[in-house]
Amino acid sequence: MTSLAVFNSFTNSLEKNGTLMPVLFIGHGSPMNGIEDNEFSNRWKKMAEDIPVPKAVLVVSAHWFTKGTKITAMDFPQTIHDFGGFPQALFDVQYPAPGNPQMAKETIQLIKTTRVEANHDWGLDHGAWTVVRHMYPLANIPVLQLSIDYTKDPQYHYNLGKELFELRKKGVLIIGSGNMVHNLRMVAWDKMNTDNYGFDWAFQMNDTFKTLINDGNHEPLIKYEGFGIVGKLAIPTPEHYLPLLYALSLQNKNDKASFFNDKAVAGSLTMTSVKIG
Ligand code: ZN
Repeated sequence: MTSLAVFNSFTNSLEKNGTLMPVLFIGHGSPMNGIEDNEFSNRWKKMAEDIPVPKAVLVVSAHWFTKGTKITAMDFPQTIHDFGGFPQALFDVQYPAPGNPQMAKETIQLIKTTRVEANHDWGLDHGAWTVVRHMYPLANIPVLQLSIDYTKDPQYHYNLGKELFELRKKGVLIIGSGNMVHNLRMVAWDKMNTDNYGFDWAFQMNDTFKTLINDGNHEPLIKYEGFGIVGKLAIPTPEHYLPLLYALSLQNKNDKASFFNDKAVAGSLTMTSVKIG
């Protein structure tokens, strides 16, 4: 069977069952989580055991911020080490998961809001591989990335995310990978190893985010400028926050939202993650 045939047969079986793949928002935190066995990465592993084995994984990563929307469409995406100042062991990691050009093509056809470009240069940045390699260590599941268009507003991203809904029926695991609270300028480096260390405003915003997500009240989350000065501390720049909007946009009325890795790190980051469905 060709890979396309496999993809289609899987699609049919999943649609017959009426099953929807869950959607995840994952707080990825430090790139070191990619090689550390810690409570965060162990939870990612466990999550993969708890949900159906996906046909493919599509990651909307904070670290692929582009003009226009792109999707990786190569057979073999490279492992991108898009960081500096980390141990050689992190640079040595290769995550050789295949891509899936056919799925990239189908996803492009699915999205009507904009013309998504098939990309052959990117690969898997650390927003994707540091998480997915813990979930699927055999690297035998195709992984694709969808970029975030930095010229667009949050509502646009929420609307675009909704257009990916069909992929859930096809057994594709969609992961938004960022951090809800992410302020690198204010990181308390000396508290890096202090369990659940967060500034007051970080916990305050973390609670606000969770309450709104629990209530399915996405509107204030889309219009996050409304959170004022505390919101500005939590979201000084949008790239780590917007992947959350992609994940939330895919929630349907029967989907529950639940939280995991609900902790602050180094004062100004939260690892709080959401499972939808
Ligand atoms: Zn990041």
